[in-house]
Amino acid sequence: MTSSFSNLSLAEPLARAVAEMGYESMTPIQAQAIPVVLAGQDVMGAAQTGTGKTAAFSLPLLQRMLKHENSSTSPARHPVRALVLLPTRELADQVAQQVKMYAKYTNLRSTVVFGGIDMKPQTLELKKGVEVLVATPGRLLDHIEAKNAVLNQVEYVVLDEADRMLDIGFLPDLQRILSYLPKQRTTLLFSATFSPEIKRLASSYLQNPVTIEVARPNETASTVEQHFYSVSDDDKRRALKQILRQRGLKQAFVFVNSKLGCARLARSLERDGLNTTALHGDKSQDERLKSLAAFKAGEVDLLVATDVAARGLDIKDVPAVFNFDIPFNAEDYVHRIGRTGRAGASGLAVSFASGGNDVRLVADIEKLIKKKIELEPVEFDEDRPRGRINDGRRHWRDEGEAGDARDVLDQPRERAGDARFGRGARPHRAPAAPRDPFFEKPYETPEREAAPSWEATPKAHATRGISSNIKTKRKVAALFKAAAPASS
Ligand code: AMP
Repeated sequence: MTSSFSNLSLAEPLARAVAEMGYESMTPIQAQAIPVVLAGQDVMGAAQTGTGKTAAFSLPLLQRMLKHENSSTSPARHPVRALVLLPTRELADQVAQQVKMYAKYTNLRSTVVFGGIDMKPQTLELKKGVEVLVATPGRLLDHIEAKNAVLNQVEYVVLDEADRMLDIGFLPDLQRILSYLPKQRTTLLFSATFSPEIKRLASSYLQNPVTIEVARPNETASTVEQHFYSVSDDDKRRALKQILRQRGLKQAFVFVNSKLGCARLARSLERDGLNTTALHGDKSQDERLKSLAAFKAGEVDLLVATDVAARGLDIKDVPAVFNFDIPFNAEDYVHRIGRTGRAGASGLAVSFASGGNDVRLVADIEKLIKKKIELEPVEFDEDRPRGRINDGRRHWRDEGEAGDARDVLDQPRERAGDARFGRGARPHRAPAAPRDPFFEKPYETPEREAAPSWEATPKAHATRGISSNIKTKRKVAALFKAAAPASS
């Protein structure tokens, strides 16, 4: 079956926008979901970001709303008819920008609201009237309470990254928002996995949904070379730098489990002379957008990020992903390494396990991805003197390691601001950076003249590729004794 967009009989303005995007054929989720949504059925979709799911729900939703399209300036003629809910501000911004692109040749209006920035510009947009509203739950409730957003004419609801919304604790907010909507509507739910909680949510709010699953949600791409190294917390940073150098990597994502750890690691790497930026929930919206832009432009070499801050961001084909901390949730491993080795390109995923709880976490990953994991030792290029303050490592020791700070998990800031401290009483944050079409473009290896920062540091070996000092795989079955992985 050919999966060309021309088979869909999309309205001309939408077809034109799609053609302009340069999409040649539909992705699997689009081929399966678009006809179902066009037929007005509810959908429960298992698809991750990067599969083209935004177009899969936006295009049919816009097509079905075209009957309401009008050029009146009266806000009353532009009530909210479609609501798209997402867990984080970056995702909301990314989806809103895609919706705008697909709707650009129609008179349908769209906007986005999320926390962490001034409500006033959002209020002005909402008061003008918009047909498609993209939002994070907390900020949307603020606008509902302030009577800026009225949802009694909503016909379509999309719960995107629903599993993450539940993980973050947005269920009560979602339930409240859904209670404001007409019962007669189309509801689409997208989630990376169909956990029991997601199934419960679906059974409460979806009507006879068509289930669509593209690829196995927990599969890791075969194009990604995966390594797990056994390395102490103290040596992780050194191992990271060594692998960057030896592999001749130009850029990499480094994932940590906590926002405190994220900030500390980024600062330590920066002090080591590596060109680094951090992406976590405690940064202002403006700072986060700037960090992303700098990475996409190749101005920084390392992006240190937490899962929540990085989830779903349209940065793909990064040459390497490092798990500086093994993720607490095995599914996050799949999400993290999904940023490398996309579309047939080869990628590298390196994970550092430091014993203790990591043994169980690695076993969980092994079970989920159904691949045997072998822990490899890292052998360093040269012996480093031991001691508390030595060979320039004192900052690292003084600052502490990322893994030390796992108590402060990253969460969207609006969550804390929402229910607990009263709405409207949040501190003013820096306004968002102006919209930049740059963010719509997928990551491409930037043109660069300068070598990455780690290449400027002295090399023990000038060789590329894996070090001769890194020994071949060694099974560490003993380590797994306590948490024997399923062999299925
Ligand atoms: P998403 O999973 O919706 O975040 O989409 C990921 C990326 O795929 C975005 O940059 C889209 O512009 C792009 N994309 C969506 N649909 C297609 C398609 N049919 N062909 C090529 N690229 C697409």
